[in-house]
Amino acid sequence: MQGKIIKGIAGFYYVHVFDYGIYECKAKGIFRKERMKPLVGDNVLFDVINEDDKKGNINDILPRTNSLIRPAVANIDQALVIFSIVKPDPNFNLLDRFLIMMEQQGLYCIICFNKSDISSKGEKEEIRQIYDKTGYSLIFSSAMETDGSIELKKLLLGKTTAVAGPSGVGKSSIINKIQPKVHMETGSISEKIDRGKHTTRHSELIEIDHNSYIMDTPGFSSLQVFSMQKEELKNYYPEFTKYQEHCRFQECTHTHEPNCAVKEALEQGKISKVRYHNYILLYNEQKEKRRY
Ligand code: GDP
Ligand code: ZN
Repeated sequence: MQGKIIKGIAGFYYVHVFDYGIYECKAKGIFRKERMKPLVGDNVLFDVINEDDKKGNINDILPRTNSLIRPAVANIDQALVIFSIVKPDPNFNLLDRFLIMMEQQGLYCIICFNKSDISSKGEKEEIRQIYDKTGYSLIFSSAMETDGSIELKKLLLGKTTAVAGPSGVGKSSIINKIQPKVHMETGSISEKIDRGKHTTRHSELIEIDHNSYIMDTPGFSSLQVFSMQKEELKNYYPEFTKYQEHCRFQECTHTHEPNCAVKEALEQGKISKVRYHNYILLYNEQKEKRRY
């Protein structure tokens, strides 16, 4: 049978098969030989050892489209980062870090700002001004309104999406909203593995529709971008690209150089001050790191 690993705990892999349910599998032998560890998100072939108990053994991992380091997971198609417009107010620096981290891993990002029901037009407009020019998909949602997350769900169909965001912004509420029926009995998994509840959180995929999964990404608040040369940072700001070819110096970092087209665009309001300010903060941070 073929399925997808949705969770891995203590040597067991929980493999989801559409219409069949979840099998508790081991991955004996071959992986030790091939030095390949199954990851959450892997599509695998497995033998059913016992259909009643839903137990199996994984024989093969199908080729991965990608594998992320942080979190360790395979075959992620895109990332969705959720913040709220208000309550709590968005931390744009944290959001930009997340965008950079996902770009570093080659993932496309959707930005979702939630709680549009309790925010003003002006507040939304302010956010739109900051992220409009970045090229990322930007949507506003509300978990409190019946159709407040329909647009979001459309972007998730047929894909596996890593979801992240600080706590309190409405991630759980949105996930519940876009998951009309409970397809998977996640409750019964944690019953089976009682200690799972008390240990650190593991990455887990949740099926929201046929062939569509989302993964909650734990540990978002302590986000660190991977170390890089400070000169490399500008490549992670998509809205800089079309200006930086006009900078006087090819190696311009857009910080202190004369005749910098990015800084000109900033002064003309073509690049957001918030984004540029965060760029400078991160640039200096990378600079400090290099010293030690
Ligand atoms: P999480 O920590 O990101 O998973 O956030 P929760 O889903 O637990 O939501 C945090 C709080 O915000 C709860 O009290 C929710 O009822 C509330 N909340 C979530 N989404 C919305 C929304 O779209 N509008 C409003 N007004 N409140 C929301
Ligand atoms: Zn420049």
